[in-house]
Amino acid sequence: MIVGSGPAGLTAALYAARATLDPLVVEGAAPMGQLMLTTEIENFPGFPDGIHGPELMEKIRAQAARFGAKFVTADATRVDLSRRPFVVEVGEATHEASVLIVATGATARMLGAPGEREHLGRGVSTCATCDGFFFRGVPLVVAGGGDSAVEEAIFLTRFATHVSIVHRRDRLRASKIMAARALANPKIDVIWDSVIEEVRGEGAVDRLLLRNVRTEETTELATGGLFVAIGHQPTTGLFRGQLDLDSGGYIEVRHPTTATSVEGVFACGDAVDRIYRQAITAAGSGCAAAIDAERWLETQGR
Ligand code: NAP
Repeated sequence: MIVGSGPAGLTAALYAARATLDPLVVEGAAPMGQLMLTTEIENFPGFPDGIHGPELMEKIRAQAARFGAKFVTADATRVDLSRRPFVVEVGEATHEASVLIVATGATARMLGAPGEREHLGRGVSTCATCDGFFFRGVPLVVAGGGDSAVEEAIFLTRFATHVSIVHRRDRLRASKIMAARALANPKIDVIWDSVIEEVRGEGAVDRLLLRNVRTEETTELATGGLFVAIGHQPTTGLFRGQLDLDSGGYIEVRHPTTATSVEGVFACGDAVDRIYRQAITAAGSGCAAAIDAERWLETQGR
């Protein structure tokens, strides 16, 4: 069984199906992962003219289905990894699996400001590497103060006329070296002690309402887009207490394999990866998980 259906889960399903492992994918109530929230993807190899996120995901799913992968379109509600075979409950239904691949992904933390969700993919992004290219020649805002925010701001200076980092405190959380690099960049400024109260614009984003948390003063800032970089949350609550997780909730694996702390359970994609978080790296690790699963089954004489 495979839990999760982003690029990692579906690539694992494709490989497992071609290896005649008869995979069942619990794809979730909102299947196919974070790419369903994106528009154009230009950095997934094999698509020189780009491809829309949802179209790419439908294609990978169809490819897995072609080789016999089966799908349950609902969320897994409980797992028991202490039993053999493993038990995965999906609502009232109970499924058993001799090997399990966890590909439950992660979600970007959002600010929760009015207008933010509505503009996701229309001026609000959670991934500069993915979307920065579409914001040429406009000023941009990055929300956050950690390494991600600083890294995204530096990356975005390639495209933007100017990048403002909006941070809720008077000091960056980012590592000293990264912070110094950002602060020295003439295209970057930091708006300190400030939070984004509202994302505004008809269709596209054209301005933000900021509030200074010290003075309570509110101001409007014109911008061509907002990159939210306040951290990610791996979707691993289902496995807490059953698999070893790190302090951020990411599943621990025995790199470079995808083996978790429970024999016969493998993990891949953004539920493991706090560094790269790309569709292609997730797909690659899904492939590795399927191969690891297949080899593990062989060692079990199956
Ligand atoms: P992070 O270190 O947790 O930083 C999150 C930032 O967002 C913090 O500055 C935090 O503010 C701010 N924030 C959180 N919730 C907020 C909210 N609701 N409203 C406004 N601001 C909010 O997350 P990260 O930057 O994604 O980094 C995660 C981990 O990956 C870190 O260990 C980081 O070092 C690592 N990383 C490393 C690199 C690199 O080395 N190249 C690149 C990216 C990430 P406060 O500071 O006030 O808490």
